[in-house]
Order: sequence, then C-alpha cells, then structure tokens
Amino acid sequence: MRQNRDHEGGAAARRLGDPWRELPDAGRGYLSVYFSEPLARWPVREITRRADNKSDPNIETGTYGLFSTCEPSMRNRIVLDGAATIFFLTTRKPHQGRVISGYYHVGWYTEGTQGAVNRDYALAADKMHFIDPILASDLAEPLAAICSTQFRTMKPIDVETVATLRRICDERPDRTAEYLGEVERIEAFARARSGYAYPSWGREAGFSWADAPEYYQTDAELSKVPNSSRNRKWRCRECGYVIKSGALLKKCPLCKQMATLAPAEEGA
Ligand SMILES: [Zn+2]
Repeated sequence: MRQNRDHEGGAAARRLGDPWRELPDAGRGYLSVYFSEPLARWPVREITRRADNKSDPNIETGTYGLFSTCEPSMRNRIVLDGAATIFFLTTRKPHQGRVISGYYHVGWYTEGTQGAVNRDYALAADKMHFIDPILASDLAEPLAAICSTQFRTMKPIDVETVATLRRICDERPDRTAEYLGEVERIEAFARARSGYAYPSWGREAGFSWADAPEYYQTDAELSKVPNSSRNRKWRCRECGYVIKSGALLKKCPLCKQMATLAPAEEGA
C-alpha cells in the first residue's frame, strides 16, 4: 500500500487496502467541472474560495469525495456503473473558456462519512495525469462540443469519448508534480494570511493519507442528511454551534466531530 504525499504522479499505479474496494472499469466516465484557484499558476481547485474552501479534486491523495461532499450523485453513479474515468474541467478566468486539466482513473471506492444511504462514496485513483491545460474549444469535434456545451457541474460520457480524451491527455507530459507544488504553495499562502490553510474548515494543515481514516464510514446508524442549506447555515448536533458554509462539511470545524452537521433552519 502506498499512501504518501510524494508519489510520482501520473505513472504511479497503486493498490489500496481495507476499507477500499476495487472498482471494475466498464469504460464510461464523467466530465467534472471544478472551481479553480485564481491565485495559482496551475489550475488546481479553489483552495481559497471564501466560506467554501475546496478540497476536491484532492490530488494530494488522488481522491475525490473523501474529504468533501461534492457531487454525490456523480460519485454514486461512478461506483454503480463502473464509469471509472473522471476528466476535470475548469474555467481559469471568466473570458478564457473551459479547459481540460487532467483525469483520474478511479480504481477504488469506499463509503464516506455520510454513508451509502446518502450516496456518499469516496473515490481513489489508481492513476492520475494532469497536463498543461487544453482549451476545450481547441479540441477536434465532437470533443469540443461535448466538453464546452454548457453543463453546470458534471456530465456522463461514453466509452469512445473516454478513450479519445484519455489518449489526448496521455500523449502530453505529466504535470501532476507541478499541480501538487501549487496546492502546497496556495495552502502556505492562505496559512500566512489567516493562520489556516482552510479557514472555513478550521484546518491549519493540508490533506494527506494520514487524514483518511477519520473520513471513512464507521457509523451504522446514519440517517439521511440534505446536502445543501438554503441559508448556508449548518448546525452541529454535538457542539450545537451554527456554522456558515456553502457546502455540507463532513467534519465540524469547531468540535471536529464527523458527520454531525445538518441544515440549520431560519429562526431555529
Ligand atoms: Zn461541532
């Protein structure tokens, strides 16, 4: 089992042990859109997004949905359908259009803190490859249309599209190490500014495999929790605090308990 932060990026195949289970690859995949970091030289996720610091795609661990609650329905379908390849798309600046930045080939999955009842599966790549970003509109048709036609957060793609996009990425140099360096640089910048790498999480450090075990599903009594809060407020059933966050957090930023947050109704 290789679970360290300084892996060698795209070429590194790995095997994960318990509680990870192997995901069979049926050939299909997903396009997944993420917010990218405006302060970064490489299009990593938006670590400094206000009141909604992003942890996915978590290239430090090669996971998706382990630390965040992003895209539960996509993660659920990936597991159920064996749609094992996720291509990541983002818009760097409002006028530049969408770029493709790389992909995960998902080899492993496990239940996240909110459990299968909440369609909460964590995914782990057995291979990832990030590249010099390619403008979606520069791809040959029908890929340009598939990747740039408006969709909000994700879109399933067929076997042929997966194979072609993967070939396009694989023939380009692997920049995963540069992306990883940029994640660390942005975290250090955020820490210098606020004392936290992830202020909306109350989190000083970055993410590594050492953090993974507390994000695995361990509570057999889980109930269904809504994934969004209209007023962006969440109440912790352990410490009672109400916190503000764009997305449901898996861990309470105050008492650090797992899976304790639920939407806080106005006036409640
Ligand atoms: Zn709490």
